[in-house]
Amino acid sequence: MSLPEASFSSKSSLPLLHLPENYNYIGVFLTLDCNLHCSYCINRFGVQSAGHRLMTRDQWLLGLNRLSSRPDLPITLQGGEPTLHPDFFAIINGIRPDLQVDLLTNLEIDGARFMTEIAPERLKRDAPYASIRVSYHPEVMSIESLAAKVLAFLQAGYSIGIWGIMHPRFTAEVVTAQQYCHSLGIDFRTKEFLGEYDGVMYGKFSYEGALERREGSRVSCRTSELIIGPDGGVYRCHSDLYAERTPVGHILDPELVLSSDFRRCDHYGFCNPCDVKLKTNRFQEYGHTSVEIVIEPFIK
Ligand code: SF4
Ligand code: SF4
Repeated sequence: MSLPEASFSSKSSLPLLHLPENYNYIGVFLTLDCNLHCSYCINRFGVQSAGHRLMTRDQWLLGLNRLSSRPDLPITLQGGEPTLHPDFFAIINGIRPDLQVDLLTNLEIDGARFMTEIAPERLKRDAPYASIRVSYHPEVMSIESLAAKVLAFLQAGYSIGIWGIMHPRFTAEVVTAQQYCHSLGIDFRTKEFLGEYDGVMYGKFSYEGALERREGSRVSCRTSELIIGPDGGVYRCHSDLYAERTPVGHILDPELVLSSDFRRCDHYGFCNPCDVKLKTNRFQEYGHTSVEIVIEPFIK
């Protein structure tokens, strides 16, 4: 779906967009670009995305500020590396103050500039985990440098913590880094590695066959997440976003309605691990899966 430039250019506001009750996550992919190149990057699990154009600051603010969310459901800015968006600071500071904002980042950004541009309160809320969640990747990062940077953010009053991916090749490094960070008083949590390594599929998934990647089969699927791509497209799932399938809507479409209904999908088998893994919800309760898939009956 292309950007509805004509309808956008004449409008300074759009109708409020209500989130269905079952929605558990708002993922805003400002860009899929990244300044690091981790060998296990899950963004490359499907077809590598290259064709997404970026929405501008004004477009993002028009789209995000129409969301009617709940205090416990933040807008999570992510990517790729979201701080690489050329309007990153203006976007984060322009989001309505009553909307909560979280950030997933590798923190390669200039920390001093970040702290000058964004007040700690913009990224702080009552939650059992930090609002700025920094990913640690041992093959491309030094934990000493990262920890020093995170400490500076903590001392300035930011809600920030580090998450390390338990990739089978780097488990020892992540555990050592965790101990080091804990000794400094930094919240360091681990994240399960999802995907295939050395012929083994890692992760616990709710649907057998969803990741087989042999041939797509037809199912009915409904989501509990609002996923907005760099071009403003609203996607059913991470698999659709990364594979550049046609989005189900556009955040700047005045007629957009967010749905929790089942939709037909012909790509079961090419799902992304993020969509079908067993995980915790936003309350940190285990046993949640982002999508619900029914093999039959198909919807029309
Ligand atoms: S920092 Fe994250 S998005 Fe960037 S390459 Fe590594 S895993 Fe991928
Ligand atoms: S079945 Fe898989 S690919 Fe299809 S919409 Fe659901 S999560 Fe996405």
